[in-house]
Amino acid sequence: MRVEVRPYRRPFRQPLQTAHGPWAVREGIILRFEDEQGQVTFGEIAPIPWFGTETLEQARAWCDRFSRNFALEQIDDIPDSLPACQFGFGAARDRVAWVSPARFEMPSLKPPGPLSVCALLPTGAAALEGWQGLWEQGHRTFKWKIGVAALAEELSLFQQLVKAVPSELRLRLDANGGLTGEEAATWLAECDRAPLPIEFLEQPLPPAQILDWLPQVKGQFQTAIAVDESVATFRQLQQVYERVGRQVVYVVKPAIAGDSQRLAHFCLQHRPDVVFSSALETPIGRHQALRLAQALWNQGISKRALGFGVEHWFADDWATLSAEALWAQL
Ligand SMILES: [Mg+2]
Repeated sequence: MRVEVRPYRRPFRQPLQTAHGPWAVREGIILRFEDEQGQVTFGEIAPIPWFGTETLEQARAWCDRFSRNFALEQIDDIPDSLPACQFGFGAARDRVAWVSPARFEMPSLKPPGPLSVCALLPTGAAALEGWQGLWEQGHRTFKWKIGVAALAEELSLFQQLVKAVPSELRLRLDANGGLTGEEAATWLAECDRAPLPIEFLEQPLPPAQILDWLPQVKGQFQTAIAVDESVATFRQLQQVYERVGRQVVYVVKPAIAGDSQRLAHFCLQHRPDVVFSSALETPIGRHQALRLAQALWNQGISKRALGFGVEHWFADDWATLSAEALWAQL
């Protein structure tokens, strides 16, 4: 088949604060495959180097190897050091593997059927007002970032937030590795006392520390613990699963977790408690990631709300475009 490659640049409404400084523009690559029958499929390469993926330059260099001609077998040649490329080129094969009745419409924020989308709340005190609009859009699961300000201040905001929202609301807390073990235990105790279900505390400690800490809190709290940064790549997911198994919830970003079919096989084999999440890819990559989530949902895996409620972080209209229209803009 033929493959064409176009880079994209997508500014955030406001720069995202990451552990590696502000992130102002999402950059990646869109792939357009056309087979001998004229059937067109789009894929996306959306690297996040500080999550352990290739850089955009490395992804570009890989794409340059294909002078428009590409065979599906070549997907297997993409090394594990290029997980975003594995995902993007894998789109050409996934279309064949997962053509199912449960196809997603590109523009929809919420996928049809029973899968629901978790919405990201504004950071800090803005969350106290910020949940309402998202609730009216139909979201029922929300994520709030913690570990940003002082512990006492955040605990006080948390107590106000859980009192302010409806009791059917489900809340996830994400510390992005910013807590100490002691602070994480304080948060878990606070979550256990909350008047509504706190679904989990995500990545309380950094990847280098959390695996040694988990045995210390095993069985102590009702609120679940999730890992995200710890399992950015497929290899890390395998390693963490071997160490702690079902003690934690796994937040997996398909767009940077490498070959989607390998990820699907892992999930079918081990049936981990998993949340599929956005890597801030465009609707093209999101569509592919959601298809993976739907395919696994159909197999009884991953009943949790998807971490894809991030379209409002971008100021453009890409979420309303078809894949063809998006491609034409690049
Ligand atoms: Mg996270």
